[in-house]
Amino acid sequence: MIATIKDATLILHEFGKHLLFVQQCREVTPATLPGFDAVILDAGEEKECLDLLKNIRAANDPACYLKPVFVINWQHCQEKEMFAELSDGLLNSVSIAAYLPLLGRVEQLIEKWSDNHQLQPGMALPLLKAMRFAYSRHRNITPVPSRYSLTGYMLPVFDVNFAHGQFQEYERILQYAIQHNLLSRKFVDKLHLCSHCSSGYLNYRETCPSCHSHHLHAEHVIHHFMCANVGPESDYVHGDHLSCPKCSQSLGHLGTDYDRPSMVMTCQSCYNTFQEPEISAFCVSCKHVTPIEQLKEHIVYEYALTPAGVQTIWNEGRYNLLAGIMAS
Ligand SMILES: [Zn+2]
Ligand SMILES: [Zn+2]
Ligand SMILES: [Zn+2]
Repeated sequence: MIATIKDATLILHEFGKHLLFVQQCREVTPATLPGFDAVILDAGEEKECLDLLKNIRAANDPACYLKPVFVINWQHCQEKEMFAELSDGLLNSVSIAAYLPLLGRVEQLIEKWSDNHQLQPGMALPLLKAMRFAYSRHRNITPVPSRYSLTGYMLPVFDVNFAHGQFQEYERILQYAIQHNLLSRKFVDKLHLCSHCSSGYLNYRETCPSCHSHHLHAEHVIHHFMCANVGPESDYVHGDHLSCPKCSQSLGHLGTDYDRPSMVMTCQSCYNTFQEPEISAFCVSCKHVTPIEQLKEHIVYEYALTPAGVQTIWNEGRYNLLAGIMAS
C-alpha cells in the first residue's frame, strides 16, 4: 500500500482504489471526498468523527452522501451503533479488501444518480436519500436508541437531514412513504412522548390526587394483629422501637405480631393522605407536566424498501410521487 501524507489526511492506494484516510476529522469537510473511492475516518476523537460522518450523509450530492465510509479506532466510542448505521463498516485494520464488491456497486449507483437534479432540496430529498442509501447497501433503515435524539431513538441515515426538533416533518414524510407503499415497516419499540413537544426525556412523578404536588412522603402501613389496628408506620415509632398507638403493646416480630400490607402517601403541601397517587410526566425539554394517560404514544419502526420503493428510486419519472410530499 502506498501512502501520501497530506495535512490531516493520508491518501492510500489499495486494489487500485484511492482511499482517503482522515486522521483529524475536524480538519476535513465533505467537499474533500468526491475524488476518492472510499474514506476511512479515525474515530480517535469521537464527536469530531461522528460530526463529519453525519455531515457526509447530510450532503445533497450523491457522490458525497453515498460515499463508502469506514471507521477505524472506534472501539472506545460511546455511539458505536450510530457509527455502524452511518458508515459501511467498523474496521479493525486499514484495509478495504472485504468491501471491494460494495465499492463497485456504490460507484455505479453514484454515477447513475450524479447528474440527476430533478429533485430540488426539500422535504422529499431526505426520503429519496435514505431510500437510495438503503438500496445501495442492501440494508434496512434501522432505528438506533440515542440520548441525543428528542424522542430517544434516531433513524440515523434519515435523521441527519433534520434539525433537532423537526419531529412533525420527519413523521409526515415517513407516513407518506408508508401510505404510498414506498417503504414497509416493522415494530421495534413503543415510546411515550411529551404531548407538547414530542420529547422522550421525561421525569415520571407520583403526585397528590388533591393538589397535584409531587412533594410526597411515602411510608408503610402497619397492621397490628392483636388489636387489628391499621395505621402509618410513623404512628407506631417510639424512639427505637415500635408500639401500637391503639393498645400500647410493643410490636416484636414482623409476621408474628404485625405486618406491612401496603404503603400510604402523605402530600407535603396539603397533608392529604392516600394510597394511589396520580402519575404525571415532567418534560425535561419543554418543562410541561402531562398526566401519563395524555402522553403521546409513538411507535418506533424499522423501515425496508418495497418493490415500489425500488422502482421509484430507479425511475426518475416517479420522482413526482416523492415531490408530492412537498405539496401534501
Ligand atoms: Zn396535596
Ligand atoms: Zn394494637
Ligand atoms: Zn415537552
